Amino acid sequence: MEQVPVVRKLAEDVVNRIAAGEVIQRPANALKELLENSLDAKSTNIQITLKNGGLKLLQIQDNGTGIRTEDLGIVCERFTTSKLQEFEDLNSISTYGFRGEALASISHVAHLTITTKTNGSLCAYKASYLDGRLKAPPKPCAGNVGTIITVEDLFYNIATRRKSMKSFNEEHQKVVEVVSRYAIHNPTVGFTVKKQGETLSEVKTNQDSNHKDNILAIYGSTVSRALLEVEDYCNTLKLKIKGFVSNANYTAKKHVFILFINDRLVESQGLKKAIDQVYSVYLGKGSYPFLYLSLHLDPMNVDVNVHPTKHEVHFLHEDKVIERVGDVIQEKLSGSNASRTFYTQTRLPTYNDTSIEIKSKENNEKTKDKQNVFITSQNVSQNKMVRTDSTEQKIDKFLNTSSSFASEPKSEDEITRREIKLTSVLTLRKEVENQSSETLQRIFQNHKYVGVASPTWTLFQYDTELYICNSNNVLQEMFYQITLYEFGNFGVIKFSNPLSLYELIKLGLEQPESEYQSGEDKPKEDLARDATEIIMSRALMLNDYFSIEIDDDENILSLPLLLEGYLPDLDGLPLYLLRLASEVDWSNEKECFRTFCRETARFYVMHPWKQQSCDTDDISDVAPDNNWTWNMEHMLFPSLRKSFQPPKRFLEDGTLLQIASLPEMYKVFERC
Ligand code: ADP
Ligand code: MG
Repeated sequence: MEQVPVVRKLAEDVVNRIAAGEVIQRPANALKELLENSLDAKSTNIQITLKNGGLKLLQIQDNGTGIRTEDLGIVCERFTTSKLQEFEDLNSISTYGFRGEALASISHVAHLTITTKTNGSLCAYKASYLDGRLKAPPKPCAGNVGTIITVEDLFYNIATRRKSMKSFNEEHQKVVEVVSRYAIHNPTVGFTVKKQGETLSEVKTNQDSNHKDNILAIYGSTVSRALLEVEDYCNTLKLKIKGFVSNANYTAKKHVFILFINDRLVESQGLKKAIDQVYSVYLGKGSYPFLYLSLHLDPMNVDVNVHPTKHEVHFLHEDKVIERVGDVIQEKLSGSNASRTFYTQTRLPTYNDTSIEIKSKENNEKTKDKQNVFITSQNVSQNKMVRTDSTEQKIDKFLNTSSSFASEPKSEDEITRREIKLTSVLTLRKEVENQSSETLQRIFQNHKYVGVASPTWTLFQYDTELYICNSNNVLQEMFYQITLYEFGNFGVIKFSNPLSLYELIKLGLEQPESEYQSGEDKPKEDLARDATEIIMSRALMLNDYFSIEIDDDENILSLPLLLEGYLPDLDGLPLYLLRLASEVDWSNEKECFRTFCRETARFYVMHPWKQQSCDTDDISDVAPDNNWTWNMEHMLFPSLRKSFQPPKRFLEDGTLLQIASLPEMYKVFERC
């Protein structure tokens, strides 16, 4: 007869050993914790000695505060710490390690000895531990202020773990890597790493160094010469970003991404992915950048209570933080933060051939060609060019294409933001804020784009719900808000050739949307003349507030850049100018700005597909325009995640409709 297995409770020390083995998986984990303890103890010099990759010996000596003799009895017990008293402290703690578990865990899987001296003490004390407890009372001995932690025979009592370590060399390299990273992050602390018995250190940094010199000392001059410094602060996210990243010309075979969040070395796959994507535009396949980034987030927003072996961190607003970091690096790489001027070579008509070009909308080939006004200057390398035909290359190559526009170098101090104090503008902004819906904001900020369903309707997902929205309404509102909030601070889209206002407006009158009635209205020439006059009389203001530059010869030279990397469909320009003259209320300041921003938003949302299909939503006979769908997915909808404040009316006017909800569907299925 088969014996029924008996369930027995495991002995406590076995439980502790298993738990400790979970926490300390390899020498590098143990060292990381010990390093943090030394840093927490305000050390300025930390020396590490290794034998057999840290498995035989892992010793760390610091010159920090030391441990009080009376605490030596309990420091290696679980949950003993000098850093945390209440659970709530977790929210504000900046030294978040094992919460009193590191020394205890190590003492369960290795022979642990502590030699320590505090400032006030006459001599040092040495104590050895087994399974969290002192083996014998601490012994007085000679020593300097600070602490030496000696870990010997790691995993002596877990044979399987010991055997799973592939090579001493690999463990050694891991330890060196951890120390190197902490050394770069803590340049005011001197670090050395040595193999036992050797005199030469493998890593050595000085006590009063800086990040860059330490990168040079550890990674060499090729990296250090290629570094760009990044620094950014985002008030909404309470996020501080600092660091050094390699420039667009630097490539390496190995990806080095050193990430500290609130001074703790961590990993974030999400962030790494986003960064890879930014660099992929510049670096070829198999080439990698170097990054050292230090993020500081409100400790409230970092999930510290994760399992200690989880180097992967999670934090609140992760998507937004990741996006922001990506943006900051992108800006650095393209140098576009120094300049917000982008050139576009207009194939727009000059006087003679205007009508032909604009009318070419029916001619698909030409329209496609005209979409390629994203022309870059000659000295931009191939891989940074904007597509000339989206079918030629893969779409993901073009993520973050803002770098593709040739930019005019400007010094940093030229781009300081102007503060707008106009009551009219402030009131209009207030109106936006008062009308905004928090629920909708949450939905748009966290939405996942699904795809376009028709020229007007776009699908996206939020949580477990599927929504369909009138993208025309939504994007018009977004551009309206951008125009209001960027007021007086726009980047510039420059035309390569000046374009005649009069000719453009006349062209606008040709279009059916102008509702021009021949016979009833004045001759087109007269209307175009009047409209040109109206715009000319506001030229100074248009330039000053909206970056629309108009020269004395009545030519328009530029447009405001509302979204980096995004150009409005210039086919819409004639109608836009005509409507600026006819639809903007130029008599009243606030109304003027409101209607101006609305008209501008309308123009920036226009797209060829939309125009072709006009009022019908039947897309069966209209091929979606590739540029436009690409823009929807990669430019327009992503920017809805940023600072868009969707108005409550979207919930009532049919702009946004929920068409499916997964939990509701489950309920339905359950009943079946
Ligand atoms: P935690 O760091 O979460 O407090 P540890 O087990 O890592 O838990 O350390 C326990 C305690 O031992 C610390 O709170 C600290 O008081 C003391 N300690 C450990 N290492 C050092 C060190 N190098 N210098 C001074 N004190 C230390
Ligand atoms: Mg600790």
